[in-house]
Amino acid sequence: MGDLGEQRWYFNARPFRSTRTGLPSVTAQRPVLEEYFRDKVAALPNVTFLERTDVLGFLSTPDGRQVTGVRLRSTAADAGSAFNLDADLLVDATGRGSRTPVWLEELGYERPVEQRMAIGLAYTTRLYRRRPDMLNGTQFINCIASREFPRGAFFGQVDRKTCIVSLTGILGDHPPTDPGGFLAFARSLPVADVYEQIRHAEPLSDPVCFRFPASVRRHYERLPRLPERLLVLGDAVCSLNPNYSQGMTVAAMEVMALRRRLSRGTPSTIAFMREVGRIVDQPWFISTTNDLKYNGMAGHRGLTARMGNAYVTRLHHAAAKDPAVTNALMRVAGLIDRPTALMRPRVLLGALRPQKPGTGPVE
Ligand SMILES: Cc1cc2nc3c(=O)[nH]c(=O)nc-3n(C[C@H](O)[C@H](O)[C@H](O)COP(=O)(O)OP(=O)(O)OC[C@H]3O[C@@H](n4cnc5c(N)ncnc54)[C@H](O)[C@@H]3O)c2cc1C
Repeated sequence: MGDLGEQRWYFNARPFRSTRTGLPSVTAQRPVLEEYFRDKVAALPNVTFLERTDVLGFLSTPDGRQVTGVRLRSTAADAGSAFNLDADLLVDATGRGSRTPVWLEELGYERPVEQRMAIGLAYTTRLYRRRPDMLNGTQFINCIASREFPRGAFFGQVDRKTCIVSLTGILGDHPPTDPGGFLAFARSLPVADVYEQIRHAEPLSDPVCFRFPASVRRHYERLPRLPERLLVLGDAVCSLNPNYSQGMTVAAMEVMALRRRLSRGTPSTIAFMREVGRIVDQPWFISTTNDLKYNGMAGHRGLTARMGNAYVTRLHHAAAKDPAVTNALMRVAGLIDRPTALMRPRVLLGALRPQKPGTGPVE
């Protein structure tokens, strides 16, 4: 675990000025993180897991006004027929492939309007054996993709013996999975740091590509009616461009909202989904507005988006010299502060200072 502001961040080949933000950062492979939380949940006395079981649809009262459970089927080879599970409250956390819109329609409700932002992103990831000289005291190196350099990279330590490299490209410019192409893509980044770390490193896996075609938001908060006892959260409501690392924070904020409401009884579906909508508004705005900075990205660039992106680009440049700007950017990206915090006088001052144009280190 380290401090988010003390890691090595680059924007257009310039390193951010390091600063202590008080925001802890964890680099872990997904199975490690999931196992950690799964163990915590499994230790709760009233939790039972139904392993290898698919949700097939909702059960409801005859008038469809209230969801009363789910229809399930085991995916095991010796699985029997489908069966019912009654529920006082159903929370859909099945991720971006959630089928709630279809099942709502089957119950006679409208589907939520779905908004998509096609980013055509791919992550290609490879593991390497960690050498003692790697990273030199920092936890990770993050080359942020910019309009000028839409290719990005993350290089970090995931345990004492292993480092992970994820190369990212958008709008179909996908990092290759053959070892030569993977290294060539790393060499094409505007900073040599990541390439230098891995060019002689020992690979522990083949490069693997993960594609993320589009950010998706389902506007449940706009629906005039919804069945009671059904809530939706996490990626099932909004799946954000993973480049901005917001998805788990958003899901956690929604779960905290659920805990608050449950302490007062079973929440009304409409009221809860409106609260989820308000939680999602800010990260969706940050993610989709940022994506519009790329040439070739389809979408309307209103005045707010154009001015916002020009200002944030200035802040990224200013962060090369000014630790207060680094701190402000980290706090907004981490959803601790609202984007308006970037307009505070101290940050504004950093942005207004004359800046060296172009790329490369700031003297
Ligand atoms: C490449 C990548 C990098 C990311 N990096 C970050 C990061 O650095 N920081 C961050 O905060 N977020 C990150 N995210 C986003 C984060 O992973 C997601 O926001 C988060 O996992 C959403 O959690 P969830 O529980 O809503 O959905 P998911 O994690 O997708 O979980 C859904 C679960 O539901 C199960 N399921 C689906 N359908 C059914 C069904 N019919 N029956 C039974 N089970 C079902 C699935 O098997 C799965 O286990 C990243 C995402 C990607 C793709």
